[in-house]
Amino acid sequence: MSRVCTREKGINLAQGFPDFAAPQPMKDAGCRAIQSDINQYAVTWGAPRLRAAIAKRTRAYNGIDVDPERMVTVCCGATEAMIASLLGVLDPGDEVIVFEPFYENYGPDCILSGAVPRMVKLRAPDWSFDERELARAFGPRTRAIIVNTPHNPTGKVFTREELELIAKLCIEHDALAVTDEIYEYILFDGTKHVSLATLPGMAERTITISGLSKTWSATGWRIGWAIAPAEMTSAIRKVHDFLTVGAPAPLQEAAAEALDFGPEYFANLAVEYARRRDLLADVLEETGFGVVRPRGAYYIMTDVSKLTELDDVAFAMQLVADGGVATVPGSSFFLDPNDGRKIVRFCFAKKRETLESAARVLRERLGVRR
Ligand code: PLP
Repeated sequence: MSRVCTREKGINLAQGFPDFAAPQPMKDAGCRAIQSDINQYAVTWGAPRLRAAIAKRTRAYNGIDVDPERMVTVCCGATEAMIASLLGVLDPGDEVIVFEPFYENYGPDCILSGAVPRMVKLRAPDWSFDERELARAFGPRTRAIIVNTPHNPTGKVFTREELELIAKLCIEHDALAVTDEIYEYILFDGTKHVSLATLPGMAERTITISGLSKTWSATGWRIGWAIAPAEMTSAIRKVHDFLTVGAPAPLQEAAAEALDFGPEYFANLAVEYARRRDLLADVLEETGFGVVRPRGAYYIMTDVSKLTELDDVAFAMQLVADGGVATVPGSSFFLDPNDGRKIVRFCFAKKRETLESAARVLRERLGVRR
């Protein structure tokens, strides 16, 4: 959709990346690192300074006790951290439980690892799951469950109770959990982030993934990490070595500084995103989309049934055409495209001006319905 958007000279609310600047002190630190000739391979599993910063931040914010020497693998983004983790811990024929709708990579990541993804539905409007359906999905071949909280594409933030249920099932079935917590600081309305690894019995069976892309608005820097018990980390590091050798060395130095930003940075991030969410959600409601305000991350899943007879792909193409607004068709987040045929996803990680231009176009094209 980003490519279509460029062709149509549209406003890109499709792909999940900010159109505003990354934090200046982090950019300055990156420039300094390049100028001081940090240009060669870092330690394969991450520059010591960055691993120390990840351990410190994760201990303070998430409450996970992290040994930077034995439990951290710095990768080229959370994307690589996920595939390196799955390749590291799965065997062919294993089953992996994935909540659906899902971030596009998880299905292919499982398949590339020789595993079989098993979907459990999150149901609109609140994107809750059925406990019995989840319990039924666990079986003798289940090796792992992937949990993404805050969740792309729905903005769901898993509650402590939901995570406790997942933990109970993991322990009962001796399964691992791989959590993607890349949106962990982007939370609204007082919602709190809970890391699955902090629940009783889960530290030894959880891989916690995060990165620079979302919290520090730097999706192109390609810095992410996996935190896991030492034995799993050893497997993840081996795969990571063969996949990419290492993440960009100067940017790792800058990331170490960014992870040390004070609490005001993280508080401000969430406040700014709440403003963007409300601006976009208001106009979407006004123009006839079905909206549930997300509690985290930076997307809004919308129901387009009241707006069109078209399916998601045709509607998204119509909406972006000729200087319109680009979205992601809902079917890309489901195994069965039919499940997403009345959904499109908007991303609000955009400047106020971008969102206001999108609002203008949406009002012009769809009219105001309330
Ligand atoms: N995980 C989720 C849930 C995402 O939404 C995204 C990007 O959209 C990523 C991972 C990618 O992270 P990275 O840029 O660190 O590879």
